[in-house]
Amino acid sequence: MARLSPARRKSLAEATSRYHAALAGSPADEHLANRGLLGPSVKDETAKFRLGYVADPLPGHEPYRGMLAIPYLRSTLDGQWSVATMRFRCLREGCEHTDHGKYMSLPGDPPRLFNTLALVGNDDEIGIAEGEIDAITATLCGIPTVGVPGADAWRRHFREPLLGYARVWVMHDGDKAGRMFAHKLLAELPNAVGVGMPDGQDVNSLVVSHGRAALRERMT
Ligand SMILES: [Zn+2]
Repeated sequence: MARLSPARRKSLAEATSRYHAALAGSPADEHLANRGLLGPSVKDETAKFRLGYVADPLPGHEPYRGMLAIPYLRSTLDGQWSVATMRFRCLREGCEHTDHGKYMSLPGDPPRLFNTLALVGNDDEIGIAEGEIDAITATLCGIPTVGVPGADAWRRHFREPLLGYARVWVMHDGDKAGRMFAHKLLAELPNAVGVGMPDGQDVNSLVVSHGRAALRERMT
């Protein structure tokens, strides 16, 4: 895997700051609010993920104009944040995403783990979710959770940082792709426990419709 060049690192940090500054009052802000990720009670908790809105794209980011920006934050030795990559989600109403993905990665970028900052909090339990929004949602529910960029984006090397935990909660959607995702992870991680969502639901929709305690209740 190619190392991030200093120029790429700087550009990703600049993009994160610019898009995060454009979030307030944007369509991305509204999208997150509908997912229970903004509003007075959760705004401060969500802010640390530095989500953003691509109002004014950096050079090369023109295809992502109008999208939600999701930075993959890491931390540096001096305690600052840095950005390993960024993904984008289309927010256009009624869009069928025919000439682009609903979620888009930067060209040539391999799947990476989202929210790896959750890995350093404890060595007892960790969650893994199928997408970034579900990882954020579960983390806000008090379960430090990393995300993979989609059910089919699991890579075997992702297992290494997860093997040291007493328990890995594999949170998966209540659909076929989600069950296959869980099946694969349970086969690769001896410490994994599957946490299925109700039919047709994901972590975020469960928490939005039934509250944070509903997620914990499924983890047994
Ligand atoms: Zn679209």
